[in-house]
Amino acid sequence: MVIHSATLAIDETIRARRAAGERLLHLAFGEAGLPVPDEIAERLAAAAGRNGYGPVVGSAEAREAAAGWFTRRGLDTGARQIVFAPGSKALLYALIAALPGDVVLPRPAWVSYAAQSALAGKRVIGVDIPAEGAGGVPDPERLATVLRESRPGVLVLTVPDNPTGTVADPERLRAVCALAERHGLAVIADEIYAELVHDGTRPPGAAALHPERTVVTSGLSKSLALGGWRIGFARLPAGPWGDALRSELTGVASEVWSSLAAPMQAVAAHVLADPPGVTAHIAAARRLHATVARAVHAEFTAAGALCRPPTAGFYLYPDFAPLRDALAARGVTQGAALATALLERHGVGVLPGEAFGDAPEALRVRVATSLLYGETDEERWRALRAPDPLALPWVADALARLRAALAGLTTGPVTASTGESAPRTR
Ligand code: PMP
Ligand code: GLU
Repeated sequence: MVIHSATLAIDETIRARRAAGERLLHLAFGEAGLPVPDEIAERLAAAAGRNGYGPVVGSAEAREAAAGWFTRRGLDTGARQIVFAPGSKALLYALIAALPGDVVLPRPAWVSYAAQSALAGKRVIGVDIPAEGAGGVPDPERLATVLRESRPGVLVLTVPDNPTGTVADPERLRAVCALAERHGLAVIADEIYAELVHDGTRPPGAAALHPERTVVTSGLSKSLALGGWRIGFARLPAGPWGDALRSELTGVASEVWSSLAAPMQAVAAHVLADPPGVTAHIAAARRLHATVARAVHAEFTAAGALCRPPTAGFYLYPDFAPLRDALAARGVTQGAALATALLERHGVGVLPGEAFGDAPEALRVRVATSLLYGETDEERWRALRAPDPLALPWVADALARLRAALAGLTTGPVTASTGESAPRTR
């Protein structure tokens, strides 16, 4: 049976419970939480009359823009190498289904890769990320061991990473790409957070290191908070391998989604030309994500959790191992129970690490910080423009509630189980 994806499911649950009057802090969903700039909304409105299906891979205009976008980021790209789709998630599934062989994932990794691999009938091999380094790329020594024992076909890398909010260092990426090349692995480089490195630098990319067999996926869901507009695209390698994959991918696309909605292609063509208003908006978003992620990180570490400092995007992956005894005294011995306790006893929604392929007994959770910017467009614009977003009352209040909740985790009454408490009301 295919279950509702953990990220989307918890989002719907928390929104429904809030609508019913519960006071919950929503740190469970990676929606970028920012409003649509007028410049982009106007492009969409102007394209409303585009009601033809168009080519499966996307319009020439959109693909030219995406090719230019990659080229300006150091990867020479022709329009023929680009395929658009309704979200990069659709492309990831089509790629996993089309590429032969089992799938190697970093552990932990974003929820959908493993679920999509299972849908495509593939075995997943999880390879741990280093205990303290950045996520998104497996530890090279562990990967080398796996490749001595099995012959997978695909390696997925997430740089920058969800769930850890970090950027793998170039040396590790180089070592892993060299292994992929030596073992003939196709690499799917999920770069959907590439525009959101907090210090504004470009993350290292697998396509430059393993050019013949790396497919890059990206989209506008994160950098421009357009998740609901479903704009995703892939860059296939030039050359015969890339050409064959393009045919296969286009075949899947033609039978499943036909094409990205034509008005959305007009939006993509505009945004991917890097007009100054768009790049300024992304820079402001990056600053806000960095500021709030750092503040939330400080709350988790102050409460005694271990946590990699965030360097990109809007996620944290705290580990409550140092609090294991105090949590066990309150009936919490696994990641899922920790997430349940945070939600049901303390009103804070997060996802357990297990949803990301982590060990169930690990006391790790994935925290998304991007829904703290405000409830209305007006609040979100103010957060984006504020010199100190942490001083805005709704952001400060959220941080104070989080602080109290985390303190309560280990100071609350000693119990035997994570039994659910009565609903919390506003
Ligand atoms: N990859 C990662 C790592 C993600 O976090 C997401 C979040 N939605 C996606 C891919 C898919 O994004 P979309 O389908 O909106 O392009
Ligand atoms: N990627 C986001 C997350 O990790 C949400 C959207 C999704 O999973 O499709 O929470």
